[in-house]
Amino acid sequence: MNRKKTGIMGGTFNPIHLGHLLLAETAREQAGLDEVWFMPSGKPYMKEGTYVVDSARRLAMAKLAIQNNSFFKVSDKEIVRGGYTYTHETLQELQACYPGTDFYFIMGADCLFTMENWKEPGTIFRNCTVLAAARGDEQGEALEEKRRQLEERYHADIKILYFAKLPISSTDIRNRLLHGKSVRYLVPDNVIAYMEAEGMYTSEETAGTAL
Ligand code: NAP
Repeated sequence: MNRKKTGIMGGTFNPIHLGHLLLAETAREQAGLDEVWFMPSGKPYMKEGTYVVDSARRLAMAKLAIQNNSFFKVSDKEIVRGGYTYTHETLQELQACYPGTDFYFIMGADCLFTMENWKEPGTIFRNCTVLAAARGDEQGEALEEKRRQLEERYHADIKILYFAKLPISSTDIRNRLLHGKSVRYLVPDNVIAYMEAEGMYTSEETAGTAL
């Protein structure tokens, strides 16, 4: 029987935007994934000190954003688990629950340079293939060298995705909302409507700028 290929698009998603969606779709296409699960982080310890919208609303936005793409799903696994979110725990849990599935963790390629500082990188690499999207601003050679190093050190399986750089970031979106500017064509319309209805990112605190 063929093994299932599932992409994991992890993120704080504060808020989710078209860059995340296009990255997931590119990964699905280039790696031939059967589906992609969007997984909002429960409590991202690396964002300690930054205002991150509560997990229930980040989850709600992710669900709205993926509507109309039958290959995309949202998982609340990291939110339900509670405590700080660590990718190695998520991947171990997934492997135990879905023995017939191979998991592909999707990320921006610059994460490859910091991943060794994440908790238990060896466990992460043992439990997934990493799909790292090069957006043209990484040094090609440095990226190749990093990939080789991680493959040697951890027997990591890392594939580079080719992806056009989109000038979209959650930080910029929060700042635009704070200053009453448009975020059309950066964020799906139904997510914009949700953020407006909830009055999100309209104060210094909720825009994440008051650190
Ligand atoms: P995020 O800011 O919401 O971003 C999610 C992903 O989308 C990142 O890989 C990011 O890559 C990418 N992205 C953002 N803007 C993009 C654009 N315009 N075009 C294409 N890609 C874009 O989430 P995050 O806070 O970085 O977290 C990412 C994942 O790493 C989460 O699952 C988190 O739990 C995990 N993580 C785990 C640990 C740990 O276990 N110790 C530590 C850190 C992160 P870039 O970052 O390159 O923009």
